[in-house]
Amino acid sequence: AGGHATFNPEPMAPFIDAFVIGEGEDVIHEILDTFRDWKAQSVSRDDLLHALLNIPGVYIPRFYRPHYHPDGTLRLMERLTEAAPPVIHKRILGRLPPPPTRPIVPSIDVVHNRIAIEIMRGCTRGCRFCHAGMVTRPVRERSVEEILSAIQEALKNTGYEEVALLSLSSSDYSQITHLVERVSHEATRQHLVISLPSLRIETVSVELMERLKGKRQSSSFTLAPEAATDRMRAVINKPIETGQLLETARAIFQHGWSKIKLYFMIGHPTETIEDVRAIAEVSRQVLAEGRRLIGHRASLHLGVSTFVPKPHTPFQWLPCDTPEQIQNKQRALLDALRGSGIKINWTDPRETLLEAWLSRGDRRLAEVIYNAWTLGAKFDAWHDHFDYEKWMTAFQMANLDPAFYTHRQRSLDEVFPWDHISPGVRKAYLQQEYLNSLQGILRLDCRRQCYACGILPTYKELRRKYPGPHWKCPEVPVHARA
Ligand code: SF4
Repeated sequence: AGGHATFNPEPMAPFIDAFVIGEGEDVIHEILDTFRDWKAQSVSRDDLLHALLNIPGVYIPRFYRPHYHPDGTLRLMERLTEAAPPVIHKRILGRLPPPPTRPIVPSIDVVHNRIAIEIMRGCTRGCRFCHAGMVTRPVRERSVEEILSAIQEALKNTGYEEVALLSLSSSDYSQITHLVERVSHEATRQHLVISLPSLRIETVSVELMERLKGKRQSSSFTLAPEAATDRMRAVINKPIETGQLLETARAIFQHGWSKIKLYFMIGHPTETIEDVRAIAEVSRQVLAEGRRLIGHRASLHLGVSTFVPKPHTPFQWLPCDTPEQIQNKQRALLDALRGSGIKINWTDPRETLLEAWLSRGDRRLAEVIYNAWTLGAKFDAWHDHFDYEKWMTAFQMANLDPAFYTHRQRSLDEVFPWDHISPGVRKAYLQQEYLNSLQGILRLDCRRQCYACGILPTYKELRRKYPGPHWKCPEVPVHARA
C-alpha cells in the first residue's frame, strides 16, 4: 500500500498483511529477499510475517492489538510479540535517486499526459493543515543537472512534449532560477510545454512562469492562499498578506494571463463567518485588479475545499465542521459573491465526511468499509457514485457513531490509532504547533531556523552519511551526540 494513507493504516489494517511506511526501493528489495527465502523453505505464512518484522519500516498489523476505553477512545496498542517494534519509523532516503524516466505511456488520452519529474521532496514551510508537509520531511533536492538529464532521457523514452516539474513548494527549490533558465532554454529549442505547479504567491513566481511560457501556454494561473484574513493565516501558518496577493495578481494579468484560479479552504480551526466572507472580499479585489488592467477578459475561478484534520499534523486533535456548519459557510460565501461574476466550485459536505472518517479512523472502521462495500459502495471518490446513505447504514451495522471520528475534540493526552507509526516528526512538536496556532504564533521556513521537529534525531546517522546542501536540515557533525 503506497501513498500517504499508510501514515494511518488502521482503517485498512485488518485487510492487509503488511504495510511499507516510507520511501525507497531498498525496503522493497529487502521484502523480496525475505519472501524468496521463505518460498525456498516452504514454511508457514505466519513465519513469513514474522520474518518481515525484522525489516525497518514494515508494519504488520496482526502483531498489534488495539484496546479501547469504554468511551471508545484507544487505551493501548498492545504488541503481541516482542519482535514487533513499539514504533514503526518511516524509511527515508538520504539522497533522492535519479527520477524514473521510463514511465508507462498510455495508449489513450489521460489527465496527466506528460512527464513528471520530482525536483525535490518535503517542504519546510510548516503549514499546519498539510499532511504532506509533515510526513515527507526532510526536504531533499535533486541537482539541476540530474533534473535536466532526466527530462532528456524521459523525452527520448516516451515521446511526450510536456514536462511537469513537481514538488510541494517549487519556489523553495534552492536553484529554481537557474533551473528555470536552463529548462526554458531547452523548452524553446525542443518546443516543449513545461509546467511548474505549487509556486508561492509572489511576483517572482510570475517571472518564473513567464520564462517558461511556450506557444501553448495555459490561459490560467493558479495560486493557493488557503485563507483570506491575517488571523486565519496565522492559525494555519501560511502568512500571505492580501497586498502581496494583489500585487501578484496584477503581475499575472500584466504578463498576459487572463484567468486566475484561487484555492481556499473553509472549515479551518477557529474560523468565523467573517473569515469566510473575507474570501469573497479578497476575491473581488483580485478580479477588480484584472478588470482594471485587461478589462472583461479577466476572470477568476475559486476552488473552495473543506478542511479535514489529518493524522500526524498539528490539527490532529481538532474536530472538523459538521455538514450544517459547512453548508452555512458555503451559503454565506455564495451570498457574498453574488453578482461578482466569479465562478466557484466546492466539495460536497457529505463527501468531506468520508474523507474525515477514513483519515483519523481506527481499526474498527474496517468493518464499516466492508459493510459499505457489501451494500454496493464503489468508486466513492466519483461524485455520481458516492452514496452517503450506504455509509450511514454501514456505520449502523457496525454499531459505531460516525461523529466520534469527525466532530470530536480530542484531549491532548489521547492515544491515537496512528501513534505507533512515525513519520519522524514528534507528537510533542505537533502539540506545540497546535498550541501555537491557537495563539496565532507563526513558525516560518525551518531552513532558516530548525524548530526541532524530531526529524534530525531520528535520522541523524543518515544525515551524517549524506552531508551537504541537498538535504535542508542542519548538518550533524560526526562527533555530535543524540
Ligand atoms: S529537523 Fe529542523 S530543519 Fe529539519 S525538518 Fe525538522 S524543523 Fe525543519
